[in-house]
Amino acid sequence: MSKDKKDIRSLTKEQLRDFFTSIGQQPFRGNQVYEWLWSKGSHTFEDMTNISKDTRQLLEDNFVINHIEVDSLQKSNDGTIKNAVKLHDGFIVESVLIPTHNRTTACVSSQVGCSLDCKFCATAKLKRMRNLNPDEIYDQVVAIDKESRLYHGHPLSNIVFMGMGEPLMNYKNVLASVEKITSDEGLGMSPKRITLSTSGVPKMIKKLADDAVKFHLAVSLHSAIQEKREQIMPFAKNFTLEDLKESLEYWYEKTNRRITYEYIVWKGLNDTKEDIDALVRFCLYVPCKVNIIEYNPIDDGEFQQAATEAVDNYLHALERNRIPVTVRRSRGKDIDAACGQLANKQ
Ligand code: SAH
Repeated sequence: MSKDKKDIRSLTKEQLRDFFTSIGQQPFRGNQVYEWLWSKGSHTFEDMTNISKDTRQLLEDNFVINHIEVDSLQKSNDGTIKNAVKLHDGFIVESVLIPTHNRTTACVSSQVGCSLDCKFCATAKLKRMRNLNPDEIYDQVVAIDKESRLYHGHPLSNIVFMGMGEPLMNYKNVLASVEKITSDEGLGMSPKRITLSTSGVPKMIKKLADDAVKFHLAVSLHSAIQEKREQIMPFAKNFTLEDLKESLEYWYEKTNRRITYEYIVWKGLNDTKEDIDALVRFCLYVPCKVNIIEYNPIDDGEFQQAATEAVDNYLHALERNRIPVTVRRSRGKDIDAACGQLANKQ
């Protein structure tokens, strides 16, 4: 039964070499298999033509190659492509290709469902079923890279961990996937082109700094007032703004890399002067920039995008305080591929 067999892609190169030694073969066979699995993206042992037939059979008897499958693909009229990705155990997650004039970004998922409970996010309505493995994250990137080449004529340029799930609640696997994405044996992408977005888990932000990661960090802030943040992101009771601030100071001290705050302005919720002042104060703690993102309504109608004037008030206040700010328009809304809309509607 395949259930009893180990996923060969959970082995490191060293472990693969050891496997070959243990069956009385040359360890370099392990490197060859590793290359088939990662650089060449093989999904069957049959492919591995520089390995003898008998050995391929032996691999087949001992291992499986679990891999994702793009189950369905939806194209938006703005060029955005949403993939429903089927995992080996039948769960589905979503990943998105977002083309802009000078880059193509892959937005990838890190969990099936989500550990957290942001009230405005469609993914949060699904409870967390399980974490994705490193190879399941890596495969999403490979699939989007292929689509980028096919539909846009160039490779993928950037990756954001902004799909389903909270990446810092799946720390080990997310970091292992980044390792693979950036290594020459994987995709060889620069970590500078990767951004991890978190709802703000202070302890894990500190761990990122300690682990000296080379990618960028974005934090979904949405309110710099503790009580309000708790209202919209209830987990923030345990991960307070005070602890978040301290962890971000620690991050900056160690990495010297500024942080991006993601921020949605909602009508009647965080659109007053008091909210703006609180954000400006928060932004002065650590070098940062603010990305104001458009709200993508989820079905329940509890939240509404604030008026343009409220967003302008934020812009002016931030600019006056020399805090870099951008307003990001949503992509792929017509196919529910925009931020916070990933919820497996099909
Ligand atoms: N858990 C991580 C990454 C996934 S969410 C995080 O929270 O950062 C990615 C981004 O989409 C976050 O900034 C999140 O706050 C935002 N988002 C969630 N729901 C949204 C919605 N309905 N409209 C717009 N952005 C949303």
